[in-house]
Amino acid sequence: MLCLTIVLGACDQGDSLDQIKAAGEINIVTRNGPTTYFIDKSGPTGFEFALATALAQDLKVDLAINLQFSLGAIFRMLRRNEVDLAAAGLTLTSGRQSKYPHTEPYYQLKPQVVYVAGTYRPRKAADMLGMSLTVLAGSSHADSLIALRDNGLEKLQWKEVKKVSSTELLSLVAKRQIDLAIIDSNEFEVQQGIYPRLRVAFDLGEEQQLTWYLPPGSDNTRLIARINSLFSRLEESGEMVKLRELHFGHASTVSRMGSHTFSINMNKKLPKYRGLITQVAQEYQLDWELLAAISYQESHWDPLATSPTGVRGMMMLTRPTAKELNVDNRLDPLQSLRGGARYLKNIKRRLPNDILEPDRTWLAMAAYNVGLGHLEDARVLTQRQGGDPDLWADVMKRLPLLQNSKYYKKTRYGYARGSEPVTYVQNIRHYYSVLQWEGISQNTVLPPIQIEQYLPGSIKASKLSAL
Ligand code: GLU
Repeated sequence: MLCLTIVLGACDQGDSLDQIKAAGEINIVTRNGPTTYFIDKSGPTGFEFALATALAQDLKVDLAINLQFSLGAIFRMLRRNEVDLAAAGLTLTSGRQSKYPHTEPYYQLKPQVVYVAGTYRPRKAADMLGMSLTVLAGSSHADSLIALRDNGLEKLQWKEVKKVSSTELLSLVAKRQIDLAIIDSNEFEVQQGIYPRLRVAFDLGEEQQLTWYLPPGSDNTRLIARINSLFSRLEESGEMVKLRELHFGHASTVSRMGSHTFSINMNKKLPKYRGLITQVAQEYQLDWELLAAISYQESHWDPLATSPTGVRGMMMLTRPTAKELNVDNRLDPLQSLRGGARYLKNIKRRLPNDILEPDRTWLAMAAYNVGLGHLEDARVLTQRQGGDPDLWADVMKRLPLLQNSKYYKKTRYGYARGSEPVTYVQNIRHYYSVLQWEGISQNTVLPPIQIEQYLPGSIKASKLSAL
């Protein structure tokens, strides 16, 4: 072994695996986005992050993440040997294979052409002639279009955009600024909930595979073998399937239940927990209706609720949060409610003093859902755009911008599923107002003027006309 490395002339430095072990750290480059790496309320997450973490654990080294916002910049880091590997939702293509060493593929997907429902739907490549079509610069999809043009579709035209994410491509289509975009099926799947009017027009070509690329010109043979063996162990143990399911299998955890279901549950399920909810709300000086609305949004008042991401119980606490809050049994409704109430109170306390009620509560709830760091980013964005960072109405307009790389690359905590806290808070406000309405309507002492302040337009109209 020693002789061999001497023969190869790399004895002083060793190969990349030795170097990583000696440094105690593996350095990867990725993209900040929903399918690769981003920070959510329990910290860094994303499919590539999970796989890279598994590798770092396997090698018993730390993981260092470098973020880039364009495919070109990712490959540049590889060419300059600035990182050990690129784990960034990168497709295995013949062009890239000839330039960069790579691992076995770990994910299969289809490139998809995306359009807005109700507009002209192309069904094959030739139908895209004359339409405005956009892809990420330097992407595998740009390669596919070149191949199509070289093979008969000479008139095919498209635009390549640099330094943006697939999220922005989708938003351009959604805003009808372009007709079509081509993106990977996994990226579309996780984002479709954010752009409900977008649809797949057709799959462009064969299935493709994602791979990790490594720097050319260094000795990566052992590192690649080590990664391949990790990937096959993850496949065999079923862990890879679980990771895929967790990160790509479900689009959004935000409840889509309507108010109709809510009122059914309010009569059926709530009476059982109302006493507990009221007790905990008093302990933490919260309105019981607010705590009831939050626990409904979280678990539909199901103390045994479990999400695919491992959050559990009436208030859907993550394991680390539960630990921090001294909740030892997340499935015990009393403990869960207390944990959630305490958590919300803590967040409220940490918000700047000049934020007044009720905005203080809505902003705290947004942070409860997306994390304080991302909320702070959205408040900074609000201020930059001339809005008032202390008002929920202004901040809720900016939270979804954290999905757009034009904005999130200039923020401290990066990409976040910013639409989710908006849906989350707005749902809770709706449930809250319905619960208050119920309470108030049973208590004729309160004047109706107070009711109106609480009610969103939709219920205001229907409920008040029933008076
Ligand atoms: N997988 C694509 C590539 O490797 C990037 C993601 C996309 O454009 O949807 O080029």
